[in-house]
Amino acid sequence: MSDAAPGYRAHLMSTYPEPPVTFVRGSGAHLFDDDGKEYLDFLSGLAVTSLGHAHPTVAAAICEQATTLLHTSNLYGTRPGPEVAATLDRLIDAGPGKVFFTNSGAEANECAIKLARKWAGPVVGGQGRYVVISAFGSFHGRTLATLHATGQPAKHEPFQPLPEGFRHVAWNDAAALEAAIDPSVAAVLIEPLQGEGGVNPAGPGYFAAVRRLCDERDLLMIVDEVQAGLGRTGRWFGFQHYDVQPDIVTMAKALGNGMPIGACWARDEVAASFVPGDHGTTYGGQPLAASAAKAVLAVMEAEDAPARAEKAGAHLASALRQLPGVASVRGLGLLLAAELDPGLDARAVAAAALGEGLVVNPVTATSLRLAPSLLVSADEIDEAIRRLGRALAATPGSDA
Ligand SMILES: *Cc1c(COP(=O)(O)O)cnc(C)c1O
Repeated sequence: MSDAAPGYRAHLMSTYPEPPVTFVRGSGAHLFDDDGKEYLDFLSGLAVTSLGHAHPTVAAAICEQATTLLHTSNLYGTRPGPEVAATLDRLIDAGPGKVFFTNSGAEANECAIKLARKWAGPVVGGQGRYVVISAFGSFHGRTLATLHATGQPAKHEPFQPLPEGFRHVAWNDAAALEAAIDPSVAAVLIEPLQGEGGVNPAGPGYFAAVRRLCDERDLLMIVDEVQAGLGRTGRWFGFQHYDVQPDIVTMAKALGNGMPIGACWARDEVAASFVPGDHGTTYGGQPLAASAAKAVLAVMEAEDAPARAEKAGAHLASALRQLPGVASVRGLGLLLAAELDPGLDARAVAAAALGEGLVVNPVTATSLRLAPSLLVSADEIDEAIRRLGRALAATPGSDA
């Protein structure tokens, strides 16, 4: 019997559909529900638990910090946030830079947008540089500003008027970007691979063209690595596939392996635009979250997480391609989407997969997103493929 009584969520706002299952425990690539049923987690809480559930090193760091010091505010120095910032600066490897810690991806992007506006200078009498250009199909968060940056106009409508200063252009189209640049533009904000938009990597040459345009027109290039960053795509950061150096990099999801922490990195000259009083946060970078991030980065470096993601991603992609019902596979490393055969509904397949003990996400109406732990084993991938194969065969509309 489930201990989740009907109606136990009665006092939660309905911002998500009624969940099909309640998870109570996790270990590595596995989750367990309140009936004790086991699942392979190939979603990782939306690319968050990149080291798997209950990683012992991360758990030990959190426990140790919880009995040492949780919080003092940013009016005082604490550890280990500054150490985490130094490690991120080394891994981003785009010239010396500085970090502002946040609690989420949206807040990391808010920091980037505010920093870009401060860097670009004041707007006087409507004249000045403040517009941020992003791509259609992008996702940058749910706060009012990051919602406007998100290139999905249908999501904007119920919340108008949104903060001014956002403009959208076709994804992977450098000519469209060039045409949208005028003297009001301060920055370009793009993902290396659109995650929520359907797992769509930047095309060849696109990032280089964006960098060139930003250099020519004196704009900041902001890369949103909230989903793609920290090893998932087979590099430390997604932009590192494209041989460019951004001015600002935002991240969050995997940084705490489930502990809420995000970060906005900027190269030194840009970061220097913020002076005391310009930006702040009560919780950002506090010791508990930072201790998790420190442990995450240490494990990722010890395990060479990007290399593991690349190798496991190649295995997963090739196994998916051989599955009846899968038309094609796209993505990088362990951030993949399986486009289903025509007639198959991704939501129905994801529901059937859950029944078979596999957590995957219908990222579009016709495709499934797969983002397992970067430490997933070859055997776990093979078992996930068997479960997905059964789900595909059992879904109506399939001739698999
Ligand atoms: C998830 C996500 C965000 C928002 O992160 P939150 O922590 O939910 O605020 C921003 N950008 C991208 C690319 C994301 O995938």
